[in-house]
Amino acid sequence: MLYIVPTPIGNLQDITLRALEVLKSADVILCEDTRRTQILLSHFALAKPTIRYNENEDRSVRRCVEILVSGKTAALVSDCGTPCISDPGWKLVKEALAAGVKISSLPGPSAVACALAGAGITGGAFSFLGFLPRKPGKAAKLIAQAYGLNVPVVLYESPYRVLKMLELISKTLGEDTPVVIARELSKVYEEWLRGRVSELIQVLSARPKVQGEFVLIIDRPAVKNQEEEDDPNPCF
Ligand code: SAM
Repeated sequence: MLYIVPTPIGNLQDITLRALEVLKSADVILCEDTRRTQILLSHFALAKPTIRYNENEDRSVRRCVEILVSGKTAALVSDCGTPCISDPGWKLVKEALAAGVKISSLPGPSAVACALAGAGITGGAFSFLGFLPRKPGKAAKLIAQAYGLNVPVVLYESPYRVLKMLELISKTLGEDTPVVIARELSKVYEEWLRGRVSELIQVLSARPKVQGEFVLIIDRPAVKNQEEEDDPNPCF
């Protein structure tokens, strides 16, 4: 049995009771980084064998599948948030399913859901691109395609590249494009910045150093006449 276990994205109190129960009862914990996971386990006084799961190594994927096929119960965790969401895990889930292993996916922290919920933008539908390719041409194409779906577009970005990404958004979609920046979610310095992309570039450029973890949400411009716009999410 393979449990997919989300872990906090910045505040250890965001672990769920069920995540703790599963981590406690699993035979082994498969981790993106065993040292990072050890900090979490120690905080909750859990002593468990951990094994590094390296998605880029076929041998590592095979080894983890073999553990599962042997009848052991494993919990898969990444460094933060939900495994498989811009994180390792999907190959293991795929291979484990092919080998007949039962999967259970626990709900829990994920930066994309957390940022969207607090963004205060319309509709429930969105397009999630995670980390974009490094090549500006490819990244711009993906942004334009996703924006063309007429729903907000959500991106993950590092502090080192966030300004470059905002500049690319401005160049691709226009400097008036509304953007919400969710920085350091659930942490002491949680911060929300909302405005036109050109304004947000100014705000971040004025800082001596851009730090923290970022989710960017590219919104639609305000709708003048509701009927002019297709309803992006007919469920709401
Ligand atoms: N699997 C994770 C999830 O479910 O959100 C995402 C892992 S991905 C490697 C890490 C990226 O998620 C960061 O670069 C950032 O874009 C976003 N992220 C993670 N924690 C965050 C936080 N506390 N505040 C804002 N963004 C965060």
